[in-house]
Amino acid sequence: MYTIAIHGGAGAVTKQTILEEEDPKFRAGLKAALHKASGILKNNGTAVDAVEAAVKCLEDNPLFNAGKGAVYTKKGIHELDASIMDGSNLQAGAVAGVRNVKNPISFARAVMEKSGHVLLSGKGANDFALKMKVEMESDDYFYTKQRYDQWLKVRHTDFYHLDHITEEMPERKFGTVGAVALDKHGNVAAATSTGGMINKQFGRIGDSPIIGAGVYANNKTCAISCTGHGELFMRAVAAYDVSCLMEYKNLSLHDAMQKVVNEKLKAMHAEGGMIGVDAKGNVSLVFNAQGMHRGSIDAKGVEYVALYGDE
Ligand code: ASP
Repeated sequence: MYTIAIHGGAGAVTKQTILEEEDPKFRAGLKAALHKASGILKNNGTAVDAVEAAVKCLEDNPLFNAGKGAVYTKKGIHELDASIMDGSNLQAGAVAGVRNVKNPISFARAVMEKSGHVLLSGKGANDFALKMKVEMESDDYFYTKQRYDQWLKVRHTDFYHLDHITEEMPERKFGTVGAVALDKHGNVAAATSTGGMINKQFGRIGDSPIIGAGVYANNKTCAISCTGHGELFMRAVAAYDVSCLMEYKNLSLHDAMQKVVNEKLKAMHAEGGMIGVDAKGNVSLVFNAQGMHRGSIDAKGVEYVALYGDE
């Protein structure tokens, strides 16, 4: 038995905010990532391999705010955050504010397996990337017209929110990507990758590379990847909170996620969502925003891909 779930961000994802021609592209991107990961899991691959592969696929897709397609900072550059966690041994690796790394998730995995540390940031992280021969790309690679135009509209403001269309009509769409998986060996893993929030400044780091906030995995409980307003998800220690509710209060995966997303985070006005799997084969996709790019293949092999709240 194996399961996989992925997300491509939550927020104001509605039929009004997603262009008609973009809808099938988002779905195709999610499906490609799901299939990549399920191919690995089917062939006895590990949950860590599967979540890395799924996130890599979404990082390479310019539609999502991670890797190619990441949003611009106030300075007009890309600073990328990513994390990965192995539920079988609680090993974790993360990178924050790194530049020019093609696949931040693979770099986070190198940190987990080869650095002796958990979280590397900024220039030191980039030095380690060179040492690890992590694949690098020029600034041009990260250019996408849509993100550039978004940034042009807000770069003179202190507005640091998400992918939004105009200043008058914030789109509030978090395009971070993530994956969680259970493999045939009974191990779970989680991965999250993002460009963060558009027009972010002062070396801002969100929840995505913070273990326990934007990502968490533990075979005893679950694997979780989050997307949403990072500052609030950090303050809520959102991903670990789900695990705690399962471990200490015996809640099911779904009930624990509902409690965190639709009670705790909602009360904090923290818009977003999360995906989760547990070691029993349950999968759950929960959000308090209008929609979330999401997909899963459950323990029975049933595939599901959706964007909006009502599907
Ligand atoms: N959580 C991410 C951050 O705050 C944003 C997102 O989910 O899109 O950096």
